[in-house]
Amino acid sequence: MNSVVSELSPGLLDSSYAMTINGKSAVSQLTLPVYNPAKREAFAEVPVATRAQLDEAISAGRAAFPAWSNSPVEVRQAAVTALADRLEERAEEFMALLTREQGKPRAGAEWEVGGSIHWLREIAKQRLPEEVIEDTKLRRVVTRYTPLGVVGAITPWNFPILLAIWKIAPALMAGNTIVVKPSPFTPLTTLRLGELAQGILPDGVLNVVSGDDDLGRWMTSHPGLDKISFTGSTETGRHVMRSAADNIKRITLELGGNDPAIVLPDVDPETVAPQLFWAAFQNNAQFCQATKRLFIHEDVYDSVRDALVAYARTVKVGDGAEEDTQIGPIQNLQQYEKVKEFFEDSRVQGHTFALGGQIDENASGWIVPVTLVDNPPESSKLVVEEPFGPILPLLKWKDEADVIARANDTIWGLGATVWSKDLEAAQRIGSQIEAGTVWINEVHQYSPDQAFGGHKQSGIGCENSLHGLMEYTNWQTITLNKVPNAV
Ligand code: NAD
Repeated sequence: MNSVVSELSPGLLDSSYAMTINGKSAVSQLTLPVYNPAKREAFAEVPVATRAQLDEAISAGRAAFPAWSNSPVEVRQAAVTALADRLEERAEEFMALLTREQGKPRAGAEWEVGGSIHWLREIAKQRLPEEVIEDTKLRRVVTRYTPLGVVGAITPWNFPILLAIWKIAPALMAGNTIVVKPSPFTPLTTLRLGELAQGILPDGVLNVVSGDDDLGRWMTSHPGLDKISFTGSTETGRHVMRSAADNIKRITLELGGNDPAIVLPDVDPETVAPQLFWAAFQNNAQFCQATKRLFIHEDVYDSVRDALVAYARTVKVGDGAEEDTQIGPIQNLQQYEKVKEFFEDSRVQGHTFALGGQIDENASGWIVPVTLVDNPPESSKLVVEEPFGPILPLLKWKDEADVIARANDTIWGLGATVWSKDLEAAQRIGSQIEAGTVWINEVHQYSPDQAFGGHKQSGIGCENSLHGLMEYTNWQTITLNKVPNAV
């Protein structure tokens, strides 16, 4: 519920950010402040789109659709690649802005902006060839993929520009036009991307609108959008799905997760500890596919826990803009308050903190210490829910079937990892986990050619790969009787 709308410009905020509607910059009377989470200070303001502006963006997408969808795919590839080139030229500026609006340290910003450029280029190369089902003297039957129309993209605040690109690149390459709405907490890099695209993409092909959650609701119920591609929480995903029903919009939902990591008894604790640490705490654990439940075999539980604690003590948490910071702040006040509830619950329940546990409320940013909770009950809030912040339960296991059942005992099914030198055992366990991605002895390896999506309440559909590209199309079967006179 992000509806912090202010009516004025105090004159202190950077108000140079504009929406992109029909290839032109657009502002609004109402604005929304954007905060630097490392300082808890607003530093910019962005337009809050009116309903009329959303209508205008969708109409522009509709008007641009015939020419764009009929353009040769090489033309679309050239335009999307040119956007990657332009982004690369401005990468420094985007990285600095990303750190300022999202809080992530430099390495994370490099990964995200570098990834955005890479994804634009690689998805631009993807093709969906017609499938020939039958081709004889008498008949030809093909299935081909046609664009949907105007896509609405709604994104969260943890990887704001990369997750927007994951939608923009395939939507455009499949021949659609798009209206993108970034999170109200991190709209700046996406707005700048829209401005960057002006003059590269034909007017109306890529529209970027900013606003609060109401704008998201208007989009999901808007009859002018043919599809919603949504990344965010499972709770919001349910609203999106209900709302999209009105005009049978296509939906792709990339939602929450509660990823298990399963550590087998043959690991070397010192070696695996840093990998497990970053599996859980990369992007300050504000990561849909972060390890959120760490199941460690009882034979190595104490040594892995101690190695994790020792490694965690070496990691610097603070302002992402400072050079040596490895973990930034929580991105927004709402999330900070939510994460605090997990700390409070663990404290009240009497859990043992192997590390951390105390939030310094007077810190200059929304900083939360990395916290490891030593074997809390499986029914704890911390184990059952998604904290989306740096507090991780360590859990003990001994029986393989039992740990698989526990790992699967969740409404979610986004990702999982298994850690072992015994590759056969690791694959046997991994293949029984109900999740869209299972990594073995690695984590967070993504590729434009690798399908990414959730099982169960982690989502519907997928992103990346040709499967992801297909989500932006209708399939159409055409049958041809080659001897009409015989009819
Ligand atoms: P959120 O659901 O609060 O918001 C996501 C987006 O939806 C924002 O742009 C928001 O303005 C918009 N929105 C809010 N209410 C809406 C409504 N009723 N109708 C339409 N749009 C609405 O999520 P968040 O807090 O920004 O992101 C964190 C969540 O996202 C976590 O649960 C995380 O696991 C999930 N996530 C999933 C993936 C994935 O790919 N599966 C990736 C990143 C984050």
